[in-house]
Amino acid sequence: MTLNGLGVSPGIGIGRALVVTRGTRNIRFRVPERRIDTELARLDAARAQSRVQIQQIKTRIAAAAGQDHAYLFDAQLLMLDDPMLVDRAAAIVRQERLNAESALQRALGEVSALFDRMDDPYLRERKGDVADVVGRLCMNLTSGGDPLDLFRDVDGPLVLVADELSPSLIAQLDFQRLAAFVTDAGSWTYHTAILARSIHVPAVAGLRNASGVVPPGALVAVDGTTGDVLVDPPADVLADLEARSRKRRAYERSLDEYGALPAVTADGTAIRIEANVELPEEAARARQRGAEGIGLYRSEFLLAGTSAAGLDEEAQYCVYRRLLEAMNGGRVTVRTFDVSEAQLGLSPGGEPARAPLGLRGLRLSLSFDEVFQAQLRALLRAAAHGPLRIMFPFVTGVEELRAARTAVGHAVETLRARGVSVPDVPLGIMIEVPSAALTIDLLAGEADFVSIGTNDLIQYTLAVDRTDDRVSRMYEPLHPAILRVLRQVARGAGRRGVPVSVCGEMAADPVLLPLLTGLGLREFSMTPAAIAVAKQVVRGIRVPDTVRLAARALKAATAAEVEKVLADSMATVKR
Ligand code: PEP
Ligand code: MG
Repeated sequence: MTLNGLGVSPGIGIGRALVVTRGTRNIRFRVPERRIDTELARLDAARAQSRVQIQQIKTRIAAAAGQDHAYLFDAQLLMLDDPMLVDRAAAIVRQERLNAESALQRALGEVSALFDRMDDPYLRERKGDVADVVGRLCMNLTSGGDPLDLFRDVDGPLVLVADELSPSLIAQLDFQRLAAFVTDAGSWTYHTAILARSIHVPAVAGLRNASGVVPPGALVAVDGTTGDVLVDPPADVLADLEARSRKRRAYERSLDEYGALPAVTADGTAIRIEANVELPEEAARARQRGAEGIGLYRSEFLLAGTSAAGLDEEAQYCVYRRLLEAMNGGRVTVRTFDVSEAQLGLSPGGEPARAPLGLRGLRLSLSFDEVFQAQLRALLRAAAHGPLRIMFPFVTGVEELRAARTAVGHAVETLRARGVSVPDVPLGIMIEVPSAALTIDLLAGEADFVSIGTNDLIQYTLAVDRTDDRVSRMYEPLHPAILRVLRQVARGAGRRGVPVSVCGEMAADPVLLPLLTGLGLREFSMTPAAIAVAKQVVRGIRVPDTVRLAARALKAATAAEVEKVLADSMATVKR
């Protein structure tokens, strides 16, 4: 079977499928022989725990609503001992070596099919009770332990097949075990895809139903460049893929030398190339690959597996300091938490989290003063160890920037009262919302630097969700509106003498670098793997040529026409 999606992290990965759905609530994999007894014991323990819980519920309901209403739970207790449920799941574990959770789901599927065939509508509806019992059993199978512990006992390199994977889940995994990720949802600028590129794990997104059709334990070969996902491929196809993978690695190694060279255009203009980093341990690698600094550290990745409450000032200070030390004098730009309420693990008055355009980024930080102050104090203390810059995400206008400055002022006062001396730290903003781009002249008057987050800027300018694979064709970085907005920001910041960089994924595309240079941009921050190629491109261009290229591109009426302008210019260079 071959599936095709969007290749979002290049390279070829081959491993056994581990299927994860509903945010790891549903994990399916083949259990190694040595672990079968453990799996059976887990099933037994979950059944015993479920029995105690259902008996307690029954007693409560009988007391509150009368014995008549408690009979339902007698039926659930009987279901626990029905040979078609837990015993059937145990047989599946033994015969097919599936993990307990997926064996239970399979048994549930078989029982549900029987119920569906019943004529009596009352009996048919009892299917819901069986699902309830299985839900409880699954909950008890995972409770107490981190679901990721299950990965420990699966053999060999793994291909994670998921409906959706949160970046925080990936951030907690042992990357050495992961040959590749594939997801039903997602797109190029989906954070999980960005992370996959940073940690060099091939990935394919937007597969629609891979998690439904790839059997756990199947051998899966993932080509993160073409988007092909091959399930149980024949030996000759596999050998061919492995050969391509070796060739690709050799090509990448051949580019490595460019990483060490300065990023200067052929006519002598210096271009600053920095790295986007999600995990602190990636910083040293970014420097080795030739990054002059870190242009974007996505600090919210620190929240993986914890909440803002679990991440105190001291813990953050250590991370920020480590980043500066790893860059050895190179500049580090830390973006304050860019998350939604749900990801922060807090919400005002315990309200449920809302839509992505609600409390998010800087506005969220401004609403949670304690969290914001702790982060700012950690950053200001770390600044004693190197050139640190603080960047605020998701800024929509000057008022928010002023409020952020005031918050920094408070943090400085608190530290001074503690006897800590605080150096001057540049404060900048991300330009990723159209209102910020349109008011760049005003914002640049008050920000020490700006950085264009094209990932969000494109989605909000074009009104296209960046994570929705169904509209990914409309997510056009080369749309004339995007070129105009980039030119406006480059000019607006330039007039005020405020440094402007690009840290969205557009900066990592070597084909776009000449165009971005022609639009007046001189600083780029990208995934470390893209740095060597970017330097190779920069060293081959001349600024006046790029200015002419940008002028031609700006005359084009559609993204396709802009693409043609770029393609023609590359053909000219080749000739
Ligand atoms: C962006 O929006 O371009 C950006 C760099 O931020 P993120 O991808 O984390 O939203
Ligand atoms: Mg963004």
